[in-house]
Amino acid sequence: MDSTIRQGEISVDLPPAEDAWLRFIGRIHTPWTDRKDCPRQGRPDGPECRVEVFEPWVAALQGLDAFATVELLYWLDRSRRDLVVQNPAHSDKTHGTFALRSPVRPNPIGTSRVKLERIEGNTLVVRGLDCLDGTPLVDIKPDRCAYTPVAPPKG
Ligand code: SAM
Repeated sequence: MDSTIRQGEISVDLPPAEDAWLRFIGRIHTPWTDRKDCPRQGRPDGPECRVEVFEPWVAALQGLDAFATVELLYWLDRSRRDLVVQNPAHSDKTHGTFALRSPVRPNPIGTSRVKLERIEGNTLVVRGLDCLDGTPLVDIKPDRCAYTPVAPPKG
């Protein structure tokens, strides 16, 4: 893991981890094995990527094929987690970590709204991702707007 500090960046000593009992529910297969080739944000016309869902979670895909767009949450597992101020390569100044969508964050969760092309058994075929091959999958949710008719309004 890269531990280089760029000008103006601030790293901290990480506090002890609390166990969230996170369970990875799958693995994402993309064409990118090197960060320099990986897009900064996915695009709907990006390449097809395959989102493999592990057992026992495959049954949880029931009904997902009704949605054209789904939201994926994934664990950017090759990120450092100790920077509170960052100096991104594409910027001429520093930014607080929570003002960025950088993979470097205390809990390196990435999110993307992706175009669901099709479901093949335990695999979603999607476009719009921006993660390295082998990135662990944390969650799948139907697109926010598309979900509205399914969830009745509160109160
Ligand atoms: N779309 C997500 C978001 O906004 O939350 C992630 C955006 S982040 C800027 C995407 C970048 O994270 C990629 O360009 C790559 O440099 C890096 N990245 C992708 N997969 C990673 C992984 N598994 N571990 C660490 N860094 C990763």
